[in-house]
Formats: sequence, structure tokens, C-alpha cells
Amino acid sequence: MRIPIQDVTPTTGMAEVIGWVHEVRDLGGLAFFLIRDRTGIIQVTIPKKKASKTVLAAAKTVSRESIVRVKGTVKAIDKAPGGRELIPDIFEIMSVSESPLPLDVVEKVPAELDTRLDARFLDLRRPRVGAVFQIRSVAMDAINKFFFDREFIQITTPKIVAAATEGGTELFPIAYFDKEAFLNQSPQLYKQMMMAAGFEKVFEIGPIFRAEEHNTTKHLNEATSIDIEISFADHYEVMQILEDLIISTYEYVKSKCNDQLANLDCVDFMVPKAPFPKLPYVDAITIAQKKCENKIKYGDDISTAAEKAIGEELGGHYFIVDWPTDIRPYYAMPYENDSSICKAFDLMHPRMELASGAQRVHQHDLLVQQIKRKGLNPESFEFYLHPFLYGMPPHAGWGLGAERLVMTMLNLSNVREAVLFPRDMHRLVP
Ligand code: ATP
Ligand code: MG
Repeated sequence: MRIPIQDVTPTTGMAEVIGWVHEVRDLGGLAFFLIRDRTGIIQVTIPKKKASKTVLAAAKTVSRESIVRVKGTVKAIDKAPGGRELIPDIFEIMSVSESPLPLDVVEKVPAELDTRLDARFLDLRRPRVGAVFQIRSVAMDAINKFFFDREFIQITTPKIVAAATEGGTELFPIAYFDKEAFLNQSPQLYKQMMMAAGFEKVFEIGPIFRAEEHNTTKHLNEATSIDIEISFADHYEVMQILEDLIISTYEYVKSKCNDQLANLDCVDFMVPKAPFPKLPYVDAITIAQKKCENKIKYGDDISTAAEKAIGEELGGHYFIVDWPTDIRPYYAMPYENDSSICKAFDLMHPRMELASGAQRVHQHDLLVQQIKRKGLNPESFEFYLHPFLYGMPPHAGWGLGAERLVMTMLNLSNVREAVLFPRDMHRLVP
């Protein structure tokens, strides 16, 4: 019976493995193969004089990335991966790979990201690329556990919607029978409505769609958002939850993903330290002005260059708090003593923004007023505003980009590296 390659040890005696032919080497009297499955790599050594005819015939014809079943004796050997090799009695080709390969799985030839994404299934066979998605899976497991441990209710909200969350520009219109419809940019309005439903603590992990027309290394057109909303909470409470979530996700990955982190050369993988500093927006602007951008002024959004300058100064995760009300969405709650700033925050990694959140406006009339101030029409938000008339609790929440979390955690250079099949302006296939 087949066993995972990582479980084959010199003490196993006989073993049967099934995997891809990673590398082939012929040294006259000996033929070497490296066979790979998702758990590891093993050397198969065929002494040509001793091997059976069928083994030799298969070994002679097999191409790289074909799938083989190998059964034989395990022997200890210092130089081979994992300190063991397999001497086969059976070497059977189960599935043939054509050659040449569209992409070199052994990574001797570095490939452009575009070439890699075109042949993504092959790219994902590379241990260091596969490791990203094994770690992403473990991180998502940690996140789900975190929420269920704290008694959140998992929700699923519609992705086909009639109105934009924050107005129009980043929306993908779709054909929905005879109506105008869009792919949702964010579960924002729906998760807030769940506060009116009395759910108190909700989370959703789902797709968001943004018609971003700029081609950057941190924007996707389809991303995964980790969202929460909590009743009877303020922005400080949900910032604490976010900080705890980030730290516990890093800790979980560190404890579960030794091999994958090693594959990615993340040997210095560090769990961020609590507490994350809370930098008022006004101070963030001052740092940005000093460090690089004299042009940036109070009331501007924090540009990518400014993010970088502030990130260098802070050196770790941090929050930007107390934003000008004017540059945050209508649903962010203004401070009672100074309505020019609001209870919104961003969680920042030194490289980029990871999450945005706020205590929300829960008073119907103030919300209508703020929608109007943004130049939006409250009538398009009737379905959202209605629940605010019948007992809406004070509430707060945030949205965290899963791909940016993975990208920054693993120090990937492009957010596309954290997605199996990224969608961007130029990429709709595969
Ligand atoms: P940015 O200013 O960096 O474009 P944003 O402020 O528009 O981000 P939000 O609407 O605040 O994004 O969304 C919350 C989080 O969702 C972001 O902090 C980010 O992690 C993630 N996110 C948003 N848009 C994208 C995108 N196009 N690609 C990848 N992740 C995204
Ligand atoms: Mg944001």
C-alpha cells in the first residue's frame, strides 16, 4: 500500500510510494530518480545490473513529471534527501507527462510570474509554491478556530447585489435578468444588518470584487475578505480582537508549518509583538511629511509611498487611528467631542494596509446625513437603512484581506503569489 513519502524511513524495510518524477539522473551503472509527492521527496536508485527488465524498461522511458509507482527496499544513505533511498522491485509508470514541460518544476530556470500563472498547476507542484498554499490553509484554519472559540456566528452574505457599498467606481456590473446588478465589493452592509438581527458577533470569510484599474503588487480584482462585526462594541474592542487574531494566526502557523516555512526560506519567521502601537492619523501624516512626501497634507489618503515611509519608521504592525471623518466611509462613527475625526482605523503591516475598520454609526438619522454628505442617495440604501429604524445596537467591525495577510506573513513580493488563480486586469484565464 502507498505511504506518504515523508513517512518512509530507513527502518520501514519495504515501502511503496506514488509520486511525480522530480528529477532524473543517469550515472552509467546507476539510475537515480527523485520522486515527489506533497509530503516530500525520496531518491529511487536503480542498480542497472541487478534490476529486473521491466524496471529497467520503465526507468529508461519515463519522462520528468510523469507519475510512477515504486515499491522496494528502503536503505539508509547519507547524501540523499531524508537520509534514505528506495531500491525498487516495481517501477511502474501510472501517468505519462509530455515533454518539454511548459514550466520547470525543479526551478533551475527561474520563470516570470506570468509564465508561472499560465501553467499554474505545474507551478504549484514546486515545493516552495505549494508551501504557500499549505500555509494559507493552516492560517485559515487558525482564523476559523479563533472565531469559533470566541462564539462568533459564521455568516454568508450575497455576492450579487443591487447597490454599491460605498458608491460606484470599483464595481463590476453583471447581467442579472432585466435588472442592474453588481458583484459585491464588501459584505459591509449585510454584516451590519446582522447586528439588527441580534446575532451580536458574526464573521464571514468570502470573496470581494473590486474593479481596481491600477496594476499594483497589492491589488487583486477578486480577493478574500475576513470580516467581523460585533454588537455593543467600540473600535478599541475590535482592534484588540484583530491584534489577537493576527498574533494567534502567526503562532499557529509557526507551530504547524515548520517544513513549509523551511521550503520558503522563512527561517526567521517572527510572531508580531503585542501591543501594536496606535498612531493617530495626524502623526502618521507628520511622519510621512518628514520622511518623504512634503506634498502630503492633513486630509489626504495615505499614499503607497507614505505607507512605506511610516512603515519604516514603525518597523512592525501598527494601527492608524482617529481619521478625518471626510476621508472615511459614511458608516464610520464620528467622535462625539470632535466630529471632524472618526472612530475608524487601519491595521498596517510595514509594507501595506492589511485591514480597515471602525465603530459604525448606529443612529438612523446621522447615517442618512452622512450618506448625503458623501454625495450618495439614501434611497439606494433603503434596504440597509431600514433595520436602523427598529433597534440597531451600537456596533463595530473590520475587514482584513486574506491575501495581504499571507503575502506579508511570508514576505511574498506580489499578492498574486498568495492566490491560486489571481484575477487582475489582464488575467481571466486560467
Ligand atoms: P487599499 O487602500 O490598499 O486599496 P482599501 O482601503 O481600498 O485598500 P478596504 O476597502 O479598506 O480596502 O478593504 C479592507 C481590506 O481588504 C484591505 O485592507 C485589504 O487588506 C483588502 N483588500 C481590499 N481591496 C483589495 C484588493 N483589491 N486586493 C487585495 N486585497 C484587498
Ligand atoms: Mg481600507
